[in-house]
Amino acid sequence: MSKHWPALDIRFTASAPDQRAADADRLAAALDDLRPTAIEERDGAWRVFFTTAADRDAAGVALAAGADRFESAPLDVPDEDWARRSQEALGAVRVGRVVVAPPWRAAGAAPDAADLLVIILPSMGFGTGHHQTTRLCLALLQQRNAAGLRVLDVGTGSGVLALAAWRLGAGSILAVDDDADAVAAAGDNLELNGAPGAITLRHGDFRLMPGLAADLVLANLTGALLMRQAETLAAAVAPGGSLVASGLTLAEEEAVAAALGRWLTPVSRLVEGEWVGLRFDRL
Ligand code: SAH
Repeated sequence: MSKHWPALDIRFTASAPDQRAADADRLAAALDDLRPTAIEERDGAWRVFFTTAADRDAAGVALAAGADRFESAPLDVPDEDWARRSQEALGAVRVGRVVVAPPWRAAGAAPDAADLLVIILPSMGFGTGHHQTTRLCLALLQQRNAAGLRVLDVGTGSGVLALAAWRLGAGSILAVDDDADAVAAAGDNLELNGAPGAITLRHGDFRLMPGLAADLVLANLTGALLMRQAETLAAAVAPGGSLVASGLTLAEEEAVAAALGRWLTPVSRLVEGEWVGLRFDRL
């Protein structure tokens, strides 16, 4: 018997981009109370998954109040896709010397003595090692000898890059995220790895933290944020240091590279699918 997942397809009715963005914010806030398990965006429409059909139907009723802003239609999505994705979430991922694995795969996930194991509990929080941008950052990070360096992980999510830097021998690590759930998840992962004191976690917006400085700045954010915050991020890179940036797409690369290139020197570029990872140095 094939399983199906209850979902809602939600379409925004406004045509003006500004209005649609505002409506998307309202929808996200409304969904917060409706217990969705996952949200996928495709072609500007949202597919929102629920654990049960009852939850889905209750959400449909609740969202009907916003019917002038968005239209929703219930559907049942066959679970092949989900099976594939949960398989992925179960597996270990290797990038260079770093192996990222969930706790139940940690034993045997790093068979070579030279392997550096990072245990990450998969959760809604970003950064299990299965996203291309995380892998790009892990690869670029290993181009530098991190031993003894001061590392700043801007938008740490699950803590995966900070933990990788710790395994690679970084001297001190500050990991920042403005999402309280991410900070909590990162804290759990530090414990899991036996690294509770090795990494300083800070909850907050990096744009409001003056004086950030490190030899290695890791910023897996978005193209737009990298562009707007290029000066702030570059300013955090000490002389001789590097900025590892990802979260940008091929379409955004030129603008992001130009923004960062005003302050730093491009030295490396990696691509996975449509995602780009860039390394800049302060020479
Ligand atoms: N570093 C992880 C997670 C990247 S996802 C990895 O590479 O897999 C990006 C993270 O940046 C999210 O957790 C998000 O909450 C955080 N973030 C976005 N904007 C931020 C800001 N202005 N200040 C701090 N954190 C931010």
